[in-house]
Amino acid sequence: MTDPQPTILLVDDEPAIRRIAVRVLQKAGFKVLEAGDGEEAFRVWQENQHDVALIVTDVMMPKRNGWELLEAVRAAAPDTPFVMTSGFDPSQGTPAPTGARVQMLGKPWEGPKLVAAVNSMLA
Ligand SMILES: [Mg+2]
Repeated sequence: MTDPQPTILLVDDEPAIRRIAVRVLQKAGFKVLEAGDGEEAFRVWQENQHDVALIVTDVMMPKRNGWELLEAVRAAAPDTPFVMTSGFDPSQGTPAPTGARVQMLGKPWEGPKLVAAVNSMLA
């Protein structure tokens, strides 16, 4: 990633978590777009897909969950890296992620772990 300030799309249906995550990522030097569910996230991604370097998404969300979001984005942009966050085992009952470029992050995460997960996927 040569962009000095990559853009992250942050998706979570819990406003309090979203707010914290946005702040953590901004402090770490990222530009952050946000969405409150998978459907909104896909719209935001479509409008900004040439800028979005990585998507951090909650798994459990209304309308379109994190895995459905991943599937929709990957259909158009197969290389988009994802960090999936979940309080449950995020890999349970879900399709195995196709290829690499997906990292799981358990909830509740700590700020440095979120930043580390993002950075490792952008490296
Ligand atoms: Mg959720």
